[in-house]
Amino acid sequence: MKPTYFISDLHLAADLPRVTQGFTQLLAKLQSNAQALYVLGDLFEVWVGDDNLSDYNQQIIQCFKQLTQSGVALYFVHGNRDFMLGEAFATACGGQLLAERTVIKLGEQSILVEHGDALCTLDEKFMAFRAQSRNPLWQQGMLAKPLAERVQIAELWRLQSKMQNSNKPENIMDVTPQAVLDTLQQYQVTSLLHGHTHRPMIHNITLNNGSTGQRIVLGDWQEETGSAVIGIADEQGIRLEEYLF
Ligand code: MN
Repeated sequence: MKPTYFISDLHLAADLPRVTQGFTQLLAKLQSNAQALYVLGDLFEVWVGDDNLSDYNQQIIQCFKQLTQSGVALYFVHGNRDFMLGEAFATACGGQLLAERTVIKLGEQSILVEHGDALCTLDEKFMAFRAQSRNPLWQQGMLAKPLAERVQIAELWRLQSKMQNSNKPENIMDVTPQAVLDTLQQYQVTSLLHGHTHRPMIHNITLNNGSTGQRIVLGDWQEETGSAVIGIADEQGIRLEEYLF
């Protein structure tokens, strides 16, 4: 069986040429060579609505489309930056939008996948924004604004984010251990795979019932170093691998 790949936190943007090229190259490499690709959030630095068909966005969609047309299944999970990615985008790519928490089967193993931001429960300010921005009414209000206005708002967000260096791991709160344990218990699984924290690692954890579980964290994609940490699942299990571009 062909391997399944997991990526997150690319933070794609038109002014990040190296990451964009790394993305394009990885997708070209995976054509016909993967079972599935899971994109676990923050694919884009910002997403203001599926109607934003800029040349850049169309280029990204085209890459995904070529991947899915080669027979690779494609799944998206929202991140805290591209939470307005919609069905139109997923369909144009030939992919499918998943619920924010989804249990998937990898051979015999069941594993919960999510972006990971919902596990950072100690960041109260962020959790409040998260609750607001995931509200369908808030999103409707946002999407009702003219595209040009939304693009401007997004620029502002990006500027603020740059000033706060909010893509840096030291500025992203890590997951709350108890939230991880409770989530695994709730979904009746022993393994969790997520991104968001930019702290790639495989953690062995002691579950609420005393047995051992796993938390696998993907890494972000870095423009300066041309590197990312991606997840690969095959017959041997799931592993993390550095991807250089
Ligand atoms: Mn994130």
